[in-house]
Amino acid sequence: MASSNHDVVVIGGGPGGYVAAIRAAQLGLSVALVERAELGGICLNWGCIPTKALLHAADMLRDIRHASDFGIDVGAPAINLETLVTRSRTVAGQLSKGITHLMRKHRIPVHKGHARFDGPDRVSVATEAGSERLSAEAMIVATGSRPKSLQGVEVDGDFVWSAREAMTPTALPKHLLVIGAGAIGIEFASFYRDLGCAVTVVEVLDQILPNEDAEIAALARAALEGRGIAIHTGARVEDLSPGRVRIRSGEEESIVAADRTILAVGVTGNVEDLDLNGSGVTVERGFIATDAFCRSSEPTIYAIGDVAGGPCLAHKASHEGVIAVDHIAGEPVHPLARTRIPACTYAYPQVASIGLTEQAASAGGRELRVGRFPLVGNGKAVALGDTNGLVKTVFDARTGELLGAHLVGPGVTELIQGFAIAMTCETTEAELMQTVFPHPTLSEAMHESVLAAYGRALHI
Ligand code: NAD
Repeated sequence: MASSNHDVVVIGGGPGGYVAAIRAAQLGLSVALVERAELGGICLNWGCIPTKALLHAADMLRDIRHASDFGIDVGAPAINLETLVTRSRTVAGQLSKGITHLMRKHRIPVHKGHARFDGPDRVSVATEAGSERLSAEAMIVATGSRPKSLQGVEVDGDFVWSAREAMTPTALPKHLLVIGAGAIGIEFASFYRDLGCAVTVVEVLDQILPNEDAEIAALARAALEGRGIAIHTGARVEDLSPGRVRIRSGEEESIVAADRTILAVGVTGNVEDLDLNGSGVTVERGFIATDAFCRSSEPTIYAIGDVAGGPCLAHKASHEGVIAVDHIAGEPVHPLARTRIPACTYAYPQVASIGLTEQAASAGGRELRVGRFPLVGNGKAVALGDTNGLVKTVFDARTGELLGAHLVGPGVTELIQGFAIAMTCETTEAELMQTVFPHPTLSEAMHESVLAAYGRALHI
């Protein structure tokens, strides 16, 4: 059996694992990466990136439909679904190849196969050519997550789709049912609605996008409903049959004639098939428990990204990859501030947030100052013809610390980064008010929201 010894072995080549491997190479460590499928993981191949390509097509379609409002007559657009899906797959493939190139550039050997632990510092990799053994001072588990299942709902790739089938349709549903109103559910609901499908969303909690600020989620819901999407919250699917789906929300029962269903009820960590049982690694509710430096309870084993628990976001995984490797190498390292991880939903309207919601911030009885600025008061939004949105900022009334920012509307998934930098710098309202924002931009609504929190907004 071939065997090799390294400083670090990374298991999983998604945005957590491949970034960890690059960081290790940058620091001059000997590193090997194990990946059983495509480099780039779910994010590049079956998640963030291909769905953004699809959603961009939906944005273009909407723009074309409204082009005559701007003095451009183009007639009714036609959808070529095959080209639309092929482009999304090409984008994913291009980026995955880019990761292969990065691995070569950094001379990181990639072992294509499935890794299982033989001990706290070694794994066996089952490859097509046989078995290989890799040992290292430190192991990093970056195996990601997979969709949760739902009792009584079988993903058959036909009537019930996972996200994979949902991003590679060969025909459009007439009536799509989406179970789960998290980021995946809402993005697909928005996409298929733009493509002309009837869409019904069922969410078990009382709010869509349940992690978001309640006011922002309510505005997003109103906008989605305004586009004709039927949304049932506090609801469950009681009977799921093609052409006849029974939904219960309290006493209320509805029947919808769905011909396709997308199941998007969350994810669970890929921890099972790693032979971790004999190790000291603690698994809690489907995810590996880690400390602030991504160490599991077994000193040589680190875990990063989705497999180490939420938020299950690519940028959190990449960041943890760097933290874990820097910690292994003895570099100075800041633990990840979990309250400063931005979250974005790329639907129409977009939703973006960072930090505490107003509800969470006020939970301990803390006194708050909350700023709200509607995009109808923003010149750029008016020029774009897209004024349905709000920038909300939450401050500690005593210290002026920015605790959270919550946005809905055009461009907000790009804007949120401004608040992310502000929070990293532990900014207060004073610096934000003193900051000059360029005119005319949507970002001015961020400034105005801060001003509004202190009764100084200029354009409302
Ligand atoms: P999620 O956990 O964000 O949302 C799942 C939703 O399903 C929740 O609202 C939950 O209350 C609901 N739900 C659970 N059981 C249900 C039931 N029986 N009936 C109806 N609703 C039910 O998970 P997701 O949307 O599946 O996404 C998976 C992960 O991927 C998440 O961590 C998400 O943040 C991430 N993701 C992020 C993006 C993005 O950043 N744009 C996009 C897609 C996915």
